[in-house]
Amino acid sequence: MEIRHNWTAKEVDTLFNLPFMDLLFQAQQVHREYHPANKVQVSTLLSIKTGACPEDCKYCPQSARYRTDVERERLMEVEQVLSAAEKARSSGATRFCMGAAWKNPHERDMPHLIRMIEGVKSMGLETCMTLGMLTPDQADELAVAGLDYYNHNLDTSPEYYGNIITTRTYQDRLDTLSHVRDAGMKICSGGIIGMGESARDRIGLLMELANLPQHPESVPINMLVKVAGTPLEEAEDVDPFDFIRIIAVARIMMPGSAVRLSAGRENMNDQTQTLCFMAGANSIFYGCKLLTTPNPGEDRDMMLFDRLGINRIESSQKPDQIEEASLMAQVAQQVAARPTEDDIFYDATR
Ligand code: SF4
Repeated sequence: MEIRHNWTAKEVDTLFNLPFMDLLFQAQQVHREYHPANKVQVSTLLSIKTGACPEDCKYCPQSARYRTDVERERLMEVEQVLSAAEKARSSGATRFCMGAAWKNPHERDMPHLIRMIEGVKSMGLETCMTLGMLTPDQADELAVAGLDYYNHNLDTSPEYYGNIITTRTYQDRLDTLSHVRDAGMKICSGGIIGMGESARDRIGLLMELANLPQHPESVPINMLVKVAGTPLEEAEDVDPFDFIRIIAVARIMMPGSAVRLSAGRENMNDQTQTLCFMAGANSIFYGCKLLTTPNPGEDRDMMLFDRLGINRIESSQKPDQIEEASLMAQVAQQVAARPTEDDIFYDATR
């Protein structure tokens, strides 16, 4: 299977309509051509600023426009973030993702974000952030600080997008992805299934991702978590086999990318998750919370990995680098704890 960027809707539709076993077989073959078998990468996600987001993403309990149980929290202190990262590292995570509920970061946030990246990086963890839209300059600043990945999901097809979000355009999203790429960072971008989209929209989402000039290195496929108070709380359930098919088609279309089983795992039984791994998923979020929605407990994940003979993909850094990084992490935490001039004037409402 070659890496392609010219998928047509007809080809993708043909993949979706293969007999289930044929599709899974093909996806697993592609998977083994590009990735080690039985290995899954594990990331941890921390919400570093929660709720009160001005955007209107209809699936999101963090939007200020909907009445949900999410408690608003301002941007976390750097040392709190570093302490959570250290915990994630000791539990076996190799990537630490930090998410802020913003339309975009403000300039005054940047020094704090940079200190978070530098601190987490020094622990030997890969770093990822999701902060909303970025300007080219902000993307450059984050890249220089050492940010490895930037997450910015396309969510759905361009045609269905307006039914889900009206406060920014599809092109805005593509522009941010392009700034991230130009700054030299890796891209994490995927979508959400179960928002009332049609089969054609699912094809459209995968085509947008796979026909980017370079495939995202990480492709999270989320199953909608229906949260009370959001406009999608009553959305129809997705047939698990349809969801598994999406994972398989994503694997075939983007052979070299990590396909991440993301939100919605809490509501999947072990058998569904297993078929997702068979279909080519090789990355998960780990930990009992995904931003603000539940995620399977770490023990349940590890027990399933054991039962399936799956091993976690180790950090790309060598052990001696990690040991050194651990020492540096302690230094970074001390540095982070020192207030800066920015802290003194920092707007507590952000
Ligand atoms: S998905 Fe992100 S941008 Fe959209 S409302 Fe939620 S926090 Fe805001």
